[in-house]
Amino acid sequence: MNRVRMYIDGDFVESSSDAWFPVYDPSTEEIIAEVPDGNPADVDRAARAARAAFDKGPWPQTTAQDRGRLLFKLAECIRQQAAELAELESRNCGKPIVEAEYDVNDTATCFEYYGGLATKVLGSVNPVPDNALSLTLKEPVGVAGQIIPWNYPLAMAAWKLAPALAAGCTCVLKPAEQTPLSILQLAKSFEEIGFPKGVINIVTGFGEGAGSPIVAHPLVDKIAFTGSSAVGKLILRSAADSIKRVTLELGGKSPNIFFADADFDAAIDGALFGIFVNQGEVCSAGSRILIEKSIYSKFVDAMAAKAKTIKLGPPLDRSTKMGPLVSKEQYERVRSYQEIGKGEAKLVSGGGRPQSFAKGYYVEPTIFADVDNNARIAREEVFGPVATLIPFEGESEAIRIANDTPYGLAAAVWSRDIFRALRVVKAVRAGVVWVNHMQPTYVEAPWGGYKQSGFGRELGPGGIDEYLETKQVHINLNEQPIGWY
Ligand code: ADP
Ligand code: MG
Repeated sequence: MNRVRMYIDGDFVESSSDAWFPVYDPSTEEIIAEVPDGNPADVDRAARAARAAFDKGPWPQTTAQDRGRLLFKLAECIRQQAAELAELESRNCGKPIVEAEYDVNDTATCFEYYGGLATKVLGSVNPVPDNALSLTLKEPVGVAGQIIPWNYPLAMAAWKLAPALAAGCTCVLKPAEQTPLSILQLAKSFEEIGFPKGVINIVTGFGEGAGSPIVAHPLVDKIAFTGSSAVGKLILRSAADSIKRVTLELGGKSPNIFFADADFDAAIDGALFGIFVNQGEVCSAGSRILIEKSIYSKFVDAMAAKAKTIKLGPPLDRSTKMGPLVSKEQYERVRSYQEIGKGEAKLVSGGGRPQSFAKGYYVEPTIFADVDNNARIAREEVFGPVATLIPFEGESEAIRIANDTPYGLAAAVWSRDIFRALRVVKAVRAGVVWVNHMQPTYVEAPWGGYKQSGFGRELGPGGIDEYLETKQVHINLNEQPIGWY
């Protein structure tokens, strides 16, 4: 068996209990590796290593230039093994190889962006009225605990590690149990690149055994989490005990809003891409597709017809547009929502498992029309290729339905009327809003949600702020005694 160890304090190690768990190829349902089943003692070891690396050793002495250069080297290392990493990511997640290649490129770009930003963290001077100098300094928050999901394993690791390392933090990162392989492959290069031991620790394991002890650990200063809303709530509660800084990027039920004046062909493509890219396993998936009544029936027919032509296939086939879902658990979850939807709305495309695959967690791209926004399939995050089509009459109804959700991660609006598009942009309560597109994501621009989609922002210049503390310094310039007594 291909046993891949986790990375703690500069060493590849097994778990203290020597327990292992399997990692699958979701297109064959076969085990492709085993990784250590990390437990609280392993997390403790990683947290102590990260603490020691933050408090002493070479890391606190690194300059911003040093840290920037390390991040550039890491990016370079990713680019050198891009093909290998993309293949591993594609096999482990089931995502189409072409999309995995984009992800690997984005991962390298993220390290480059924060490599450059490391030297642009600025303090400031405060205009206090006394004969004094008042400064604001920015300092690393300390040990960052980082818990990530399985849909974009390498990119999610980069979104967390890059700003933290640029800021001068040390990290304990837990990949999702389904997809630990690509970050462990990358970890093989950490030492050679020059990261001191303990600065980056990768602990594999499940939520309960390895995730929750990171959140509870007294030596960890901050938690950054991307994942389900249910786990986000647990993390927020647990973090209260030690007043940890927390940032959360949780689920979504994002509206993709189409007005009648939108370019029709672009709209159909945008609706399909918004929900079916990465098999719909996207936190910002455009899962509620709101369509103006005057084009509704034509839109439903065109979208359903085109969805039937989306090529499902093995992840490593370059013509594949949708691979299998990541796991049996996720497959069963999506299949159950397909059935729930059949009782709530009109099925117009897909709705089951494709006939042509004997094995693998494949599901058909599925579209329900005439969906009531109160239906479960319109309210609950499916995290899979299930679209709900909802008709609306006029701008104010579109906005009302768009905002009628506990979530607020993303939204998109399609119209050639710039006044209307921008009115909708302002009215929608979401952290990311696209106009005449859905899903493009850039490291240069902030990412995160309103409402129950979480708080804090990743990416962009502000992404590093989540890993910085603010220190106010007052320097008295009077040489006389204070003269109070
Ligand atoms: P999903 O429902 O798709 O599995 P999760 O929110 O459960 O999404 O998983 C996202 C990440 O959170 C994974 O790395 C998972 O192991 C981790 N996780 C799950 N439960 C907990 C928990 N109780 N505490 C901390 N991390 C957890
Ligand atoms: Mg889970």
